[in-house]
Amino acid sequence: MSGAGKGRVVVVGGGAVGLAFAAACGEEVRVLEAGPARPATDPEAVDIRVLALSQGTRDFLGEIGAWQRMPAHRLAEVTRMEVHGDDGASRLEFAAPAGGALAWIAEGNRLARAIEGAARDKGASISTGVRLASVAAGERGARVRLEDGTDLEADLLVGADGVDSRVRRDLGLAASAKRYPETAVVAHFRCEKAPAGVARQWFRPDGILAWLPLPGSRMSIVWSAREGVADELASLEPGALARRVRDAGGAALGDLELDSEVARFPLRLVRVPRISVAGAVLVGDAAHGVHPLAGQGVNLGFQDARALARTLALRSPLERPGDLALLRRHERARRADVDAMQFVTDRLEWLFGLALPLAGAVRNAGLRAVDSAPWAKRFLAAHAMR
Ligand SMILES: Cc1cc2nc3c(=O)[nH]c(=O)nc-3n(C[C@H](O)[C@H](O)[C@H](O)COP(=O)(O)OP(=O)(O)OC[C@H]3O[C@@H](n4cnc5c(N)ncnc54)[C@H](O)[C@@H]3O)c2cc1C
Repeated sequence: MSGAGKGRVVVVGGGAVGLAFAAACGEEVRVLEAGPARPATDPEAVDIRVLALSQGTRDFLGEIGAWQRMPAHRLAEVTRMEVHGDDGASRLEFAAPAGGALAWIAEGNRLARAIEGAARDKGASISTGVRLASVAAGERGARVRLEDGTDLEADLLVGADGVDSRVRRDLGLAASAKRYPETAVVAHFRCEKAPAGVARQWFRPDGILAWLPLPGSRMSIVWSAREGVADELASLEPGALARRVRDAGGAALGDLELDSEVARFPLRLVRVPRISVAGAVLVGDAAHGVHPLAGQGVNLGFQDARALARTLALRSPLERPGDLALLRRHERARRADVDAMQFVTDRLEWLFGLALPLAGAVRNAGLRAVDSAPWAKRFLAAHAMR
């Protein structure tokens, strides 16, 4: 193991969060990704997975040199958000200050590509198609064994291998998972009227529907719907689906035309009470799974990456990257943010999933109360922009 100076760090998982950590971290970093090398993106093709990125994410991606690599014409600014209840009258609105944005919508593959470029520029070595045989960590550091027999030693192992993290399991870090009764149905549409920077969300009896603006006259939807409804949506022919989505959103953007495949994603809450052991730590979805209703999963992951890189950079000359005391400082620093997001999204999912007769009235009254209380709106808007 190395002593003072740069430590050796192995990151398992080359998704957006693992790569962002590699770009941010000033140590000698090697990223091991199970998937194939990322192909050059077809300039025309649109990734069905889009992500709402917060101001905090934008700042971080700017610091690591990734934001500058994102094709600006493929980003959509969100300048206003509307949240609707299910009675047609209750609504909550947030607007960005003049000239600013509340969030940015980016395609997942272009985001990962930009971050990978930034990580390579910073000297990170990235291996793809890697097959992990085992991982182990302790006070003297970590060891990663690959199926081809290669052994890699590091001062610190970072598990960024997603919500089903193998690193988490192999290190014996307990996780409790709750499968939500909804599935996210995702699709893109061409709209008669351009979304013009407005993101909309409806808390409906048949699920939570989000319309996210894309550049021009297109939008992406995420409909977190109960299994039966999700099955029905996914089986509709394109015209019928477009009409169903149009009507669910009160035809706010006029007629719609399906412009992509229809994808489905299972939704889980994953709580990981301890994210570190001596020699290893988890970041991103490996450390926390959240419901996407607040569009915050990857934003939380980027803040993990930023905070861990900062904790490593500020360590005393006597500390090594895998020291448990240092990793626990990082863990404590992230805990409140992750707990708050999991609590709020889980409670909202529960409240809006209730089929009790009075539940609709309670949630609509809740939305109206927040909208008429300036302090509550300021709090929520500030959180959305972090
Ligand atoms: C429908 C939906 C909409 C969402 N919308 C938003 C949004 O608007 N905003 C937002 O912030 N978040 C959103 N999220 C959440 C977001 O997608 C995730 O939080 C984010 O992708 C997590 O990134 P990650 O890098 O931690 O994990 P992942 O993206 O899962 O990456 C993990 C990587 O590890 C690799 N890997 C796995 N196992 C191994 C192994 N054994 N060895 C090596 N490599 C391995 C995988 O191949 C992958 O590349 C949404 C999620 C869903 C389902």
